[in-house]
Amino acid sequence: MKKRILILSIAAAVTAAVCGFHVKSVSAPAAMPIVVLDAGHGGEDGGAVTPDGVHESEINLAITKRLEQFLRLNGCKTVMVREQDTAIYSADAKTIAQKKVSDLHNRVLLVNSTPNSLLVSIHQNIYTESKYHGAQVFYAATDGSKALAELAQHAIAAGIDPGNHRAVKSAGKSIYLLQHIQCTGVLVECGFLSNPQEAVNLQQSDYQKKLACAISGALLHYLNGASENSEV
Ligand SMILES: [Zn+2]
Repeated sequence: MKKRILILSIAAAVTAAVCGFHVKSVSAPAAMPIVVLDAGHGGEDGGAVTPDGVHESEINLAITKRLEQFLRLNGCKTVMVREQDTAIYSADAKTIAQKKVSDLHNRVLLVNSTPNSLLVSIHQNIYTESKYHGAQVFYAATDGSKALAELAQHAIAAGIDPGNHRAVKSAGKSIYLLQHIQCTGVLVECGFLSNPQEAVNLQQSDYQKKLACAISGALLHYLNGASENSEV
């Protein structure tokens, strides 16, 4: 009898090995991150400016608000770094330089103090020559950031700007916010305000909606993949 049990056990083990199935451990799905949405600049710090004098801070906020709407419609929890044309520096910051440093510190603090956070920061680019255009996504050194950046870059190019062949770029130490966060994070430079046509596009509500749709789609795709992986 013992011999028969032994043979059956060996047969089961061999079958499992040959067929490749295994018992999948059942674990609770990972909690959905809280997406911190950062509209770059604000208040006295307007950031880059279009040829017509429109500040980046205003365009950033418009796109970020649309992104918030799309993500909430899809059941994501979000936190807005700012909802008005204001910076978020502390009261003891007096000079422009102190306000800028304090504002960045507070943005980092908000991201790092939000439990289970994920950062998407929205900015606009500028260059001395007007011919350059196209969105580019920068990523933090943290887990998942590069994958999220690649999804967002691809979604923008595929859905809005097929001629955009820019590659994602590591932020390294060049972007304070991405350098100091502890969670997954990307910064989307949505386009160049120094390019007259792109500057016009970036101020149009339709174009802003398309950008927000592409970025939120990439984020949902990323979160879906991340939760699937966590179940294995
Ligand atoms: Zn900026």
